[in-house]
Amino acid sequence: MNQRRIRVALLGATGSIGRSTLDVIKAHSDRFELVGITANSNSSQLAEIATQFGVRTAILTASNGRELVDRSRFPKNCEVLFGQDAVEHLASSPDVDIVVSAIVGAAGLRGSLAAVGAGKRLAIANKETMVIAGATVRKLAQKTGAELLPVDSEHSAIFQAIKSGREKEVCRVILTASGGPFRDFPKEQMDQITPAMALKHPTWKMGPKITVDSATMMNKALEIIEARWLFDLKAGQIEAVIHPQSIIHSLVEFCDGSVIAQLSPPDMKLPIQYALSYPERLDGTSPRLDLTTRMSLELIPPDIEKFPAIPLGLEVAERGGSSGVVVNAANEVAVDAFLNGKLSFSQIVPACRAMLDHHEFISEPTYEEITSLDDWAREETIKWMHLCC
Ligand code: NDP
Ligand code: MG
Repeated sequence: MNQRRIRVALLGATGSIGRSTLDVIKAHSDRFELVGITANSNSSQLAEIATQFGVRTAILTASNGRELVDRSRFPKNCEVLFGQDAVEHLASSPDVDIVVSAIVGAAGLRGSLAAVGAGKRLAIANKETMVIAGATVRKLAQKTGAELLPVDSEHSAIFQAIKSGREKEVCRVILTASGGPFRDFPKEQMDQITPAMALKHPTWKMGPKITVDSATMMNKALEIIEARWLFDLKAGQIEAVIHPQSIIHSLVEFCDGSVIAQLSPPDMKLPIQYALSYPERLDGTSPRLDLTTRMSLELIPPDIEKFPAIPLGLEVAERGGSSGVVVNAANEVAVDAFLNGKLSFSQIVPACRAMLDHHEFISEPTYEEITSLDDWAREETIKWMHLCC
């Protein structure tokens, strides 16, 4: 019997996750059809993807999108649209089955919320969605029947391992972290780290923001918060451990002491594919583990004095409410300032800590409160940077 192909909208198609998603869709073109794509400003790559995949809707979100676009480079039957409203429209369209949320930063929230509001399957790479609005997203998904499928490799691993027992039998989840490029770097020299040094990740090839987040370990902080909301855990049930090889993607411990892990070489195509095909598993598009040669897998407790992001992430997961909004916004501003030579590497996490401590906590922020707190934290972080540097 001929099955209809699953229609995928890919938000952030021109990024690192976007490209890996395209590889998965291409490898399984009998199963998936790419119907809509978005980028911020990379119009030429957007046009190439639209042409290659015969996409019906392509969206540029940058405020000067109309000036950037060369319409003649897009296929004739492809509608080219602009702005965040168009992203919301695509993410909630009845012509879409799965939305892949792969925009970087808080800018990904609107598309994610639109997809959840419309009851779609949301494949969540944009971890900021859960960090900022985890409680709102969960509640909305319960109402609309939307499915939340993790793409982040750690959360995909937990999603797979956690099925080995019942919800009440889960004792703790242990997120693995490569430790980034500065795992063995002297603590006293952390303020001499340059953007070029921070952008060299030892095991993963990713966009610049998440690569810097991995270096500060804010990525693990964001992932701890993401796990808290995705799996409805208590902060005390979440731990992080350094695993330099990036083969074990995370572990779940059950009440009887059994620890179940998911292993594979570091390649985002696997968790992306699983989020698209779940509950089915399709033939692999990423490399397999070679167990014919000797391999060491290390698990090392993190140095939380050197990487204060980890306790910060646990604190945000514990406090909930508006904490994730301000910490995420501060981190985005601080990472951008670091990449532009305006803030030292070792001040990124203190900027996040300052916003967490100074903001007026709201236990159940509305969408409007989330966006205004996000604006507030961005402005305050800029002021904080002027004062501290
Ligand atoms: P990239 O920087 O490679 O790509 C970002 C994408 O978002 C691009 O398509 C970009 O468009 C678009 N974009 C950037 N800014 C905006 C904006 N303001 N509004 C709308 N679209 C925008 O990021 P990654 O692919 O590395 O990461 C994407 C998300 O996935 C992040 O949340 C990250 O934390 C998460 N993630 C990434 C992993 C990875 O391996 N890369 C692993 C796990 C999670 P343009 O090209 O036009 O700028
Ligand atoms: Mg991850």
